[in-house]
Amino acid sequence: MRLRDKHGRFITDLRISITDRCNYRCVYCRTGNQGAQYSELPFTDYLRMVRVMVGLGIEKVRLTGGEPLLRNGIVDFVRDVAALRTLDGQPLDIAITTNGHLLANMVGPLKEAGLRRATISMDAVDPATFARITRVPRGYDNVLAGIRAAKRVGLEPVKVNCVLLRGFNEDQIVEFARFSRDEGVVVRFIEFMPLEEDRVWSPDVVVAMDEILEKLNLFRPVRQLPNAPSETARRYTFDDGLGEIGIIAPVSHPFCGHCSRIRITSDGKIRTCLFSLFDHDLAGRMRQGATDAELADYVRTVADQKEARHHIGEAGFIKPSRSMVHIGG
Ligand code: SAM
Repeated sequence: MRLRDKHGRFITDLRISITDRCNYRCVYCRTGNQGAQYSELPFTDYLRMVRVMVGLGIEKVRLTGGEPLLRNGIVDFVRDVAALRTLDGQPLDIAITTNGHLLANMVGPLKEAGLRRATISMDAVDPATFARITRVPRGYDNVLAGIRAAKRVGLEPVKVNCVLLRGFNEDQIVEFARFSRDEGVVVRFIEFMPLEEDRVWSPDVVVAMDEILEKLNLFRPVRQLPNAPSETARRYTFDDGLGEIGIIAPVSHPFCGHCSRIRITSDGKIRTCLFSLFDHDLAGRMRQGATDAELADYVRTVADQKEARHHIGEAGFIKPSRSMVHIGG
């Protein structure tokens, strides 16, 4: 029986964090201080979790982190996941979200192992702004090389994610529109969510969808493109059809009603929503010797409890105790 929650949503999309280490310290994600606790499991454990979930109807698997490319053995892991089949006997749609710093040299082997799609995070097309946000002095050229390499090997469409923060990079909106048109990539602007380690989130820092559209329209008139229902981004192109911009607006225009996602953290906990207040300890069940059938029952029970929606911006909103780098974005 396929995974479905009590709100009637089918769960088909798994995001698995394979490490919570990261080589960037983005101001909106990581704390400036050192000393965080890291935890990751052997790939054999992640593979078993993925296999159990694919047996329940998962069709897309996205590898994330932390920074997934920091994990030795990732190419073999992709190959092992690619050998699994959906309930309909189809290959899985395997994707990665990466900061792109190490991508240029790894993307060929990853593609050959079965990776289908890549989303690369890049929060500015201006190298100085990029360094200010990532707190890494010379990362920009690596990321640009990673984006171009992903295109070269055919991981199309290459998507570039940019989290907009007022006071940091809202001046990059038009620059990114040009970037999408020049490089032939989909640029997706993401509204900043309260999932950071430090307390920097406030409604004032969020650059919301309407403002993004206004700025894009001043550059060139935009035209909306059709969306699949479970797609998080609203898609746009320009009047001449060149370039594609996505806007992911969980704060100003939540899309929880169509959410098909479930997450596994790097320490093997299930999260049913980015804003869940509780984890569900799948790895703990494995350590206690649960069979695959018992794990599948547990996943079903957990998925059933998936939250109807998040409560960002509402009175009484409680920020989750784990930040994005630990949950896996
Ligand atoms: N290290 C990889 C990367 O940089 O893409 C994968 C992990 S990162 C947590 C995944 C995505 O989450 C990135 O695109 C990042 O910009 C985004 N992200 C992190 N914190 C966020 C927040 N508070 N609000 C919105 N997006 C966030």
